Amino acid sequence: MTTATSNNDSKIIVVTDLDGTLLDHYNYSAEPALATIRKLQKRRIPLIFNTSKTLAECEALSEKLGLSDPFIVENGSATYYPKRRFRTAPSGATSHGVYWQVVAGLRHDDIQARLAPLKSDYQMVALSDCSLGDICAATGLNMTAAQRAQNRHFSEPLIWRDSDDALARFRQALAGLGLTTLRGGRFLHVLGETDKGQALTAIQDVYRQTQNDVVSIALGDGDNDIAMLQAADYPVLIRSPAHALPRLNSARPVIISDETGPAGWAASIKHLLATI
Ligand SMILES: [Mg+2]
Repeated sequence: MTTATSNNDSKIIVVTDLDGTLLDHYNYSAEPALATIRKLQKRRIPLIFNTSKTLAECEALSEKLGLSDPFIVENGSATYYPKRRFRTAPSGATSHGVYWQVVAGLRHDDIQARLAPLKSDYQMVALSDCSLGDICAATGLNMTAAQRAQNRHFSEPLIWRDSDDALARFRQALAGLGLTTLRGGRFLHVLGETDKGQALTAIQDVYRQTQNDVVSIALGDGDNDIAMLQAADYPVLIRSPAHALPRLNSARPVIISDETGPAGWAASIKHLLATI
């Protein structure tokens, strides 16, 4: 049985997308959310990233924000539980350095091998075929951050340059190969048959092993957040300065932030903490 050693009081977990949600779409800053993050920490409410980003990116951000909670990487493909918070391994986990690792998706090598025969049929560029300079130009990241972004274990981001019709054909071809796609803020992500919603449900179940009444707040701004928001007890849509709100069919009331990015994130969390 898994033991969460330092957050036994919490009944709420916060599960959040990063780019365009906790982090500003343009400058990747979480500054407007910092005071609210500290409030969550004071109340021992876990703040769990659920992102298309990699392990290396999540580790760096977690450290920068002074967090020690689990995180879900590459659109639900794997979840990392810090061993200092979780003394024993969650079900299905293997040891991975200072973490317990639960893998739900496919390994990057496997995805690349399945994707390879399709690459010449469509106008697209895979991130692993890009130079670091190309990634910096496409994302606005600096070299170190671009390196972390390229270090993917469970998904392949594509810059899609073909038509919508071609995309429909591409998706059909992928489905026959056990692959799926998710659209993030900048990339089309190819991954195994998993999503952020399945990962949220799994992590909520892990917390339920030690706490009876665990409710989830989930926050996101993009299409790849829909499954997560539909699985959450309290779904929050964060407005984007770059694209329209995704369409969400949730059985539960959906909060839509007034402001964009981390400012909207902070206001929505404050509102929910006062009402739950
Ligand atoms: Mg996003």
